[in-house]
Amino acid sequence: MTGWLAIAGLGPGAEALVTPEVTAALAEATDVIGYIPYVARVAPRDGLTLHPTDNRVEIDRARHALDLATAGRRVVVVSSGDPGVFAMAAAVFEAIEHGLPAWRALDVRVLPGITAMLAAAARAGAPLGHDFCAINLSDNLKPQAVIERRLQLAAEADFAIACYNPRSKARPDGLAAALAILRETCADDRPVLFARAVTTREERLTVVPLPEARADMADMRTIVIIGSSRTRLIPGTRFLYTPRSLP
Ligand code: SAH
Repeated sequence: MTGWLAIAGLGPGAEALVTPEVTAALAEATDVIGYIPYVARVAPRDGLTLHPTDNRVEIDRARHALDLATAGRRVVVVSSGDPGVFAMAAAVFEAIEHGLPAWRALDVRVLPGITAMLAAAARAGAPLGHDFCAINLSDNLKPQAVIERRLQLAAEADFAIACYNPRSKARPDGLAAALAILRETCADDRPVLFARAVTTREERLTVVPLPEARADMADMRTIVIIGSSRTRLIPGTRFLYTPRSLP
């Protein structure tokens, strides 16, 4: 049997936002590997082995997947959203780069998914309609000073900014520091979108001006989008958007 490895994105939560390509790969798979809540989104069936693992060991999980595919298994590594955005695809390629020569010959595919910032933006209107950037606020894999410098420069460049991983129990203060940096550069009317658990039953969207944004408005399931200087709410509606042109 010829093994393969697909690194798939399950989208932000709603079943309708899982792509047909990902559904087809899961239907052919013998093994599914991923962080516990993501593997829980895959329906069990005969012939499919589920390998839920803890989030902290991404590289080990990647090596495990590569070992299984080398042994002839059909393996899907699952991430939420898109697997290339702060998720498993880069971890698998890092394992390939530093790992066994046989891994370089494997059939490896990345199957895209709808990433959280795009799902959140669509729910709110079109806040990412002009130039934007994405920053991971987690300091697990990079120094806090790098995060703060990127936020500062992104604000100066007047990007809309999507902040992934804004808050966790291990890092209760990261988002407060980020908001403080943005307040120094951005005007008081800057809208901030807190979008929680988008496309699930627990979805909650809140838009506040930057001075009213507080770290406790976000948790691990929230993405925070800070608008550019042009981003605004259309009066009388709930629509947040950024025009495509500059004045
Ligand atoms: N690969 C994922 C991101 C993983 S990082 C993707 O492409 O979406 C995890 C972070 O993504 C969370 O802390 C949160 O900021 C964001 N996130 C993931 N799913 C979300 C959802 N349904 N609603 C809001 N934010 C979400």
